[in-house]
Amino acid sequence: MAITRRNILKKFAAGAASAAAIRAFGELGFAQARPAQSPAVSAGSLVLSRNENPYGPSPKVLAAMRKAAAGANRYPAGEYDTLIRKLAALHRVRAEQIVLGCGSSELLRMAAETFLGPGKKFIQASPTFPLPGKLAHNTGAEVISVPLNSLHEHNLEMMLARSDAATALVYVCNPNNPTGTITPRTAIESFIARLPAKTMVLVDEAYHEFAGQSNAYASFLDRPLDDERVIVTRTFSKVHGLAGMRIGYAVASPEAARRLSAGYLTLGVGVISARAAAAALDDPNYTALAARRNAADRQEFRNQINARMMRAIDSHTNFVMLDPRRPVDEVFEHLKRNNVQIGPPAPEMSKYLRVSLGSPEEMLQFWRIWDLMPVEKMVM
Ligand code: PLP
Repeated sequence: MAITRRNILKKFAAGAASAAAIRAFGELGFAQARPAQSPAVSAGSLVLSRNENPYGPSPKVLAAMRKAAAGANRYPAGEYDTLIRKLAALHRVRAEQIVLGCGSSELLRMAAETFLGPGKKFIQASPTFPLPGKLAHNTGAEVISVPLNSLHEHNLEMMLARSDAATALVYVCNPNNPTGTITPRTAIESFIARLPAKTMVLVDEAYHEFAGQSNAYASFLDRPLDDERVIVTRTFSKVHGLAGMRIGYAVASPEAARRLSAGYLTLGVGVISARAAAAALDDPNYTALAARRNAADRQEFRNQINARMMRAIDSHTNFVMLDPRRPVDEVFEHLKRNNVQIGPPAPEMSKYLRVSLGSPEEMLQFWRIWDLMPVEKMVM
């Protein structure tokens, strides 16, 4: 009986996956833009743990990178000016408000080192992207972690209640990693308005492009607040498919940007990375395509989850928090044994697993391996 149900589920799931994958390729016309084979797969393991873009950068970006490589013997010269000019135009800010970094990770480090230190407090959600908390801890600041609310949004009332004059920096990851959830814009606005006057707010928009149209969500770059305490970080690692190039940026008030830049390693961003980022900004059609493709892959992932009678948190990103309805340690171990890497378990959400969305082929492989687990072990 159990075996029959399992077979039915498998057939249904595999059929749904391939049909949707073929439709997605056909409708969106991606085929020529995809790498011949994902390096993650060819290296023998399926890497669905790092929220990368499995399709890679746009052909125009790849061409710009090949061209830039020929000049790799030269230190960066005009590349930063060009990129900063484009970013300033895109976000309708002044050039001095943009700070580049080696991935947005470097901006997070600069923010921690600029605003924090012994005697200061850093407030974040829990769980959230762990790097800022670690960087804050390294400065000697007190790190306060406030659990997400029942909707998996930042619990801003509680974060506010924990803030005082010593709170130098608050981190808001929106959409949030690892939950993929959005914290409503209006709630963040009223939170910022009530924070102590000197508290800086870092809004991490690494997954902005995947959030799509939603009444609840608005980027603090697309719809800026007239508040000098707000710093927004973005990255080229996700929708633009440039994680390996290590480039990101912050947009801040001229004064905050000046202070952040003090921690910037001179010429820290490489020529190829800067040119790749500039080319990505010049190719908005590809960015839109990447977001649509992610939405299709996300929907397909949801179909597969439904087919297996599992649950997931509604995702606004390129990864999904999944409740496998079985012991997560066993699932994690099973996937690991089969060379599938998924996100590290978040102790605060011990029933869930985070899976980054791969290409349709990678996800077919993922579900094939998933279905090797006995269905009888599911907790209904
Ligand atoms: N912010 C968030 C929320 C992330 O999930 C990540 C990486 O996964 C980063 C920032 C850092 O990205 P990068 O340094 O590649 O720009």
